[in-house]
Amino acid sequence: MTVGIADNSTDFSFATEFAQDLTVDVPAPALNETPLQVNIIVQDLPENSVPSVVIEKDSPVAKLFSDEFKRTSPDLPITEVPREELPKVDLGLLNAPQAPIVVLKVPKGNEAENRQLRTAAANALKKLSIAQAPVTPSAEGIKVFIDPGHGVNGDSGASFNGVSEREIVLKVAKLLDADLKARGFSTMLSNSALRPQERAAEASQFFQGSTVASTFFLSIHLNSTGSGTCPGKSEAWAMYDLQTPGSKSFSENLAKLLQAKGIAASVNPVPETYSNFTNLGVLEAQTDNKALIELEFLCNQENSIKVNSSQWQDSTSKALAEAISSLSGSMLADSQGFKTVFATRFDGSSNTAGNCNNSCAALPDNTALGKSITVCNIGRTKCVNTKVGDIGPWCTKDSAYVFGTTKSIGEQFNGKYWRELPESVQTTCGNPIEWPQGNLKSNGAGIDLTQDLLEQLGISGDPLRDQVKWKFV
Ligand SMILES: [Zn+2]
Repeated sequence: MTVGIADNSTDFSFATEFAQDLTVDVPAPALNETPLQVNIIVQDLPENSVPSVVIEKDSPVAKLFSDEFKRTSPDLPITEVPREELPKVDLGLLNAPQAPIVVLKVPKGNEAENRQLRTAAANALKKLSIAQAPVTPSAEGIKVFIDPGHGVNGDSGASFNGVSEREIVLKVAKLLDADLKARGFSTMLSNSALRPQERAAEASQFFQGSTVASTFFLSIHLNSTGSGTCPGKSEAWAMYDLQTPGSKSFSENLAKLLQAKGIAASVNPVPETYSNFTNLGVLEAQTDNKALIELEFLCNQENSIKVNSSQWQDSTSKALAEAISSLSGSMLADSQGFKTVFATRFDGSSNTAGNCNNSCAALPDNTALGKSITVCNIGRTKCVNTKVGDIGPWCTKDSAYVFGTTKSIGEQFNGKYWRELPESVQTTCGNPIEWPQGNLKSNGAGIDLTQDLLEQLGISGDPLRDQVKWKFV
């Protein structure tokens, strides 16, 4: 966060001391982060008047400052005015002259009250800076077991025109291993002399003592049609273990993240029983986060040249590393109390008590009103602190979700009308006074966010497209 201070007062001590208040522990922005920027103008007031704050109207950052400030100092007056009506001060010497403006109005000679204003403003900026700092999940302690398929007793897997599956997947696995190590993960490559089930045991041993959220298993293969002809398109398969429910959602998320990198990936279940001698036996590794991934079909000249190119191997291993990185960050966040839900956009004004205008969230439990939450984008590269200013989406008393650990009723009954809910759930959900005959369909979302917040998080707020993570602060 960067704070510019323009001293427009006749007594320099206020601005100097304010700057000192700020130097204590406002964290520097992380690398690659666009720092949050605010400019403070210090302005004189006549003796014996009340210190006050003026913020720039329609600025989300100034609004966040104002919310924080009001929380700690509800009795200090704070008003919003358009930028053109703010004091005309030359901001040219500051780092970011265009940054939003907060004016601190300081009466002369009013030491005690001015100190209160100074402290409250500094604290609000510090809070803001911490809330805006990206939460970068650490990869420390997260284990990834990488199994390049085949290799035992000279088994080279699929082949075409002298290009063998084993040779390619070993290259991809080594690139992935180096990439993940550079990101701070602990990694292990499988022993090529071991059979698939023995490799699963090797992985389970590597995972020992770690939580499910911090263990990942990937067996890497190339596919073969067996018929000598290729399928119509390039396709990766993330295959999951049917006997491990978590393996399915892991594989689905993995496929989604690979799709985002331009790899056509789909999810396929592995047959319920696999013999000791098939490659699928590796999926007995002891973790939920496991998949056997067939990266591409090795089935014709074109594909054999493609998978043999360092360009394909680099981009594929990078996509896998990024997917693992993103999934582990997401799981770590959940294990730290975040809930992962879909978000919808709302305008912040409604008939319910909150009515928070342009910057707040809604949660489907009336007792959450007024509480503070942190909302982050799915990768938690952006987080904002905000207030619960309204009730919804869809339900009004879903405390098992809001304060507990169950999925929201909206998510459980996604696509259903309120009137279609079982009676007991209707009671839990609350009385839909404003929805005639219960004719409102759930879109599956667990939180509503105003446009302003969605923009700060860099997401669109389309139902069932954008997920966010949130928790109470
Ligand atoms: Zn294979």
